[in-house]
Amino acid sequence: MWSSRRPGSPTDAVTTLFISDLHLDDSRPATLRAFLSFLAGPASRAEALYILGDLFEAWVGDDDDSELATSVREGLHRLSARVPVYVMHGNRDFLVGDRFCNDTGCLLLADPTVIRIGGRQALLMHGDTLCTADAEYLAFRQQVRDPAWQQALLAKPLAERCAIARALREGSRAASSNKPEDILDVTPAEVDRVMAGHGVDLLIHGHTHRPAAHAETHGERLVLGDWDAEGWLIRWDSHGPELESFRIAPA
Ligand code: MN
Repeated sequence: MWSSRRPGSPTDAVTTLFISDLHLDDSRPATLRAFLSFLAGPASRAEALYILGDLFEAWVGDDDDSELATSVREGLHRLSARVPVYVMHGNRDFLVGDRFCNDTGCLLLADPTVIRIGGRQALLMHGDTLCTADAEYLAFRQQVRDPAWQQALLAKPLAERCAIARALREGSRAASSNKPEDILDVTPAEVDRVMAGHGVDLLIHGHTHRPAAHAETHGERLVLGDWDAEGWLIRWDSHGPELESFRIAPA
C-alpha cells in the first residue's frame, strides 16, 4: 500500500539518494552527526543509496579502529541490512577496501559506472578524473591507485599510516584544502568525451564542491556538493533527479 510522507511527493520507497564529499573527519563532528542521522532517517526509507566518493577526508585502511571509523561502519551496516548502499572511491578514501565492504555491507562501485534508473542511464563518477587540467594531481592519482603502492602502504602499522595521513594534511594546506578555489573544475571536453563514450545523457558526480545542474553537449550534468555548513544530495524519485541542499546544525 502506498502512503505519501510529504505532500506533493511520492513515497520515499521509490526514492534513490546520491551523496558525495562528506569528508568525514574528527575535525567536523557536525558533519558526522548529520551523516549518521541521514543514514537512520531519509536513507533508511530509500530504495538505494549511492556514495560517490570522499565519504572520508582520509582513509588509512580498513583496520582503522578509530571512533569515527567505527561509528560510520556501524551506521552503514545497520542501513545496508535494509537498503543497498553503493560506495565509490574518491581521491581521499581510495584505500576503502574489501574488508570495509564486508564490515558494512556496502558494495564497492567502480569509477565510472553506468546505472539504469527511472528508465534512464546515468553515468556515475567521483569527478576527479574529469579535472584533466590538474596534471600534478593526475600523476599523484596514478601513483596512489597502483596496487603495489597501496600494498606497501597498507603493510605499515596502523599508527604509522595515521601519522603519514596527518603529515600529508599538515604538510600542504593547499593540497589538503576542500575549498572550491583549490580544486580545479572539470574540463568541458572531458565531460563531452565520457558522456559520449558511455552513450548517456546524464552524468552525476561530485569532487569539485561546485553543486549545480549543468546543460552539456550530450545532456545533463548534476554535481553534488560537499557537506559542511550545508549538505547536498540528489533525490531521484518518480519526478526524476533533483539536487537538494539542507542545513547542517553546528556541533
Ligand atoms: Mn574528491
